[in-house]
Amino acid sequence: MADKTISKVDFSKYFQPPSLKDARRRRREAVQIINDFSIPEDMQHVGKGKKYLIETYGCQMNEHDTEVMAGILEEMGYQETSEPIDADVILLNTCAIRENAENKVFGHIGTLKMLKLEKPGLILGVCGCMAQEEVVINKILAKHPQVDLIFGTHNIHRLPQLLKEALFGKEMVVEVWSKEGDIVENLPQSRRGHFQAWVNIMYGCDKFCTYCIVPYTRGKERSRHPEEIIQEVRDLARKGYKEITLLGQNVNAYGKDLPNMENYGLGNLMDEMRTIGIPRVRFTTSHPKDFDDHLIEVLGKGGNLCEHIHLPVQSGSSEILKIMGRGYTRERYLSLFHKIKDTVPNASFTTDIIVGFPNETDEQFEETMSLVRECQFDGGFTFIYSPRAGTPAARMTDNVPMEVKKERLQRLNKLMDELSAKSNTKYQDKIVEVLVEGESRKNAEVLSGHTRTNKVVNFSGPKSLIGQLVKVKVTNTKKWSLDGELQEAEVFNQ
Ligand code: SF4
Repeated sequence: MADKTISKVDFSKYFQPPSLKDARRRRREAVQIINDFSIPEDMQHVGKGKKYLIETYGCQMNEHDTEVMAGILEEMGYQETSEPIDADVILLNTCAIRENAENKVFGHIGTLKMLKLEKPGLILGVCGCMAQEEVVINKILAKHPQVDLIFGTHNIHRLPQLLKEALFGKEMVVEVWSKEGDIVENLPQSRRGHFQAWVNIMYGCDKFCTYCIVPYTRGKERSRHPEEIIQEVRDLARKGYKEITLLGQNVNAYGKDLPNMENYGLGNLMDEMRTIGIPRVRFTTSHPKDFDDHLIEVLGKGGNLCEHIHLPVQSGSSEILKIMGRGYTRERYLSLFHKIKDTVPNASFTTDIIVGFPNETDEQFEETMSLVRECQFDGGFTFIYSPRAGTPAARMTDNVPMEVKKERLQRLNKLMDELSAKSNTKYQDKIVEVLVEGESRKNAEVLSGHTRTNKVVNFSGPKSLIGQLVKVKVTNTKKWSLDGELQEAEVFNQ
């Protein structure tokens, strides 16, 4: 393995350590829109005859960033491979949200050391949210000299230039911008799906929940101009896509930062989506504090707007919500929940819940249980609290033993299982619309897809139905899925 020299890195240039003071100043800086992406001439064919592999960890934002990096690499001539041994470039697109996600990445970097010995020309890169953390870069510099390239979430568009430095230079290339972030339009994308697509509507987050690292790794909230989004969605519709998901860390804050568009928000954007000939439109992730009445009213109009709301609550206790910095109370969440439910009666609801936040009492946890019972969620992601270095919550002392946290999580998961099974029984003998996504994970003879309400449906049918909208009659309901019989294919196309 050719040893890379590790240059001395001036971290003050590259990082912005978590700071609430700086966060308050965020909105004063203008967001720069960059429209002139191009691959430098000397890098346009550098990947001809070579292959790349990108491993993605974490959320849909990362999945979509991977599509952009794949698009850039393919414009440089690289082809995708799923075999590490065949790859000339391997990028690990990382997630910083939980400690075990980070440990997994470090474990993987360790195993790739052997591959690098076998294939010294291989370029190994680490990017994504972890790369925005100083502690992570220090660890890579100290322990993983096999890494050639580290870049962050704000400079993906610089991949060609960074790759050039990694390919032809002798030093480990580290470029992580501490800036709050720009918006880069016109980047190439190599979409993974042919009938489902993600569309970024905004980047970053200004909520600063006390447990979360995202506002530091993804920068400030910045919305893409609606025209750019509408054009992208129209283009997807023309290409025959059936379902799009509008993406952002806090989509309900969409539009707040748009200059000269003071009253334009997610509700307006969703109303525009209704006029586009794409059968299904979803959005994620919502924040209850910014979920406004106009959006609820637009969702009530139905059409291609799917009846599934992911509404993270995190805790059912107002005291805990306050310490989490969520900006709403239990009562405010419940009132929002019921308002949406009254307007969109068929909607399914999923949520995120953190169990065992520092000093959470038995009574506070019981408030979470009672809120879950009241909302009768269809599903959700539940976690034991895990501290992230640099966040305010990581400095809190915690008197709740891990055993207690685990026991609370078990009880919560049991309740969620029961509620999901109960909600699925409502579908018995009903005919539902399913977007067929592929073979079922457990049985290649069975097709699998989702309803508009995001329920998994498994049924028998020809593989030619993959990518189509079909009608399925539900014949059996389970805890987390529905079984059915195919009725008609392609009946819902617009
Ligand atoms: S709104 Fe979501 S992304 Fe933003 S700080 Fe809170 S948990 Fe993190």
